[in-house]
Amino acid sequence: MKDDSAWQQRHGAAPRFPGRRMFSISGDVARPGVYEVENGITVGELLELAGGLVDGQALKAIAFSGPSGGFTPAVLPRAAWPRKLQKLLPAELAAIDLRDLQMHINYFRAWDLMLGAGIVVYGASADLVDQARACQRFFQSESCGKCVPCRIGSMKLAELSDDLAAGRLSRERIAELQAPGGPLADLAFTMASTAICGLGTVAPNPLATLLRHFPTELSRNLKP
Ligand code: SF4
Repeated sequence: MKDDSAWQQRHGAAPRFPGRRMFSISGDVARPGVYEVENGITVGELLELAGGLVDGQALKAIAFSGPSGGFTPAVLPRAAWPRKLQKLLPAELAAIDLRDLQMHINYFRAWDLMLGAGIVVYGASADLVDQARACQRFFQSESCGKCVPCRIGSMKLAELSDDLAAGRLSRERIAELQAPGGPLADLAFTMASTAICGLGTVAPNPLATLLRHFPTELSRNLKP
């Protein structure tokens, strides 16, 4: 490519999002696959390219960076926005629909979201507790064990996910895990501050985002 910057400027939602990129989209979409798109395409446009959700399901959540970024709910209520955006955006805006977000890494960072190349879509029928469990098992098996907090922490996260899926966690225990500064936040902080690679930083995200954003999913799995 002779003039890369000029080419980039001709593509994407210029001038803010020049260029093109690839996304692999999988999960509950009609046409999973790899799509080359203009930078700054909206989430809704990418979902349309992938044929929409299977069986006309409603969108429940998206993992924008595979298991690493955790689960983002289809509608992000104002209380879940980063504080700077709560101050910046009009007070009458109560929630943001994920479909309206433009897919650019800088924009996603402003929303405290990760944006990778692998997007997983979850429809209304998806069991996110089970999905989180699978993600935490993945991180446990991928942890090489060199950093002790990652080795022990990823195991602990997998055990917690197993307990949640098996209905062994009480409402009180879940509330404790959800609390800012609680044991899960402590574990995530310790893992992130001692990890020598990215895995230790992102490993708590599936369980942490499940606990933060999906109370209905949790209520189905409470200890009787
Ligand atoms: S943070 Fe990375 S290097 Fe450290 S134990 Fe985990 S996977 Fe291994």
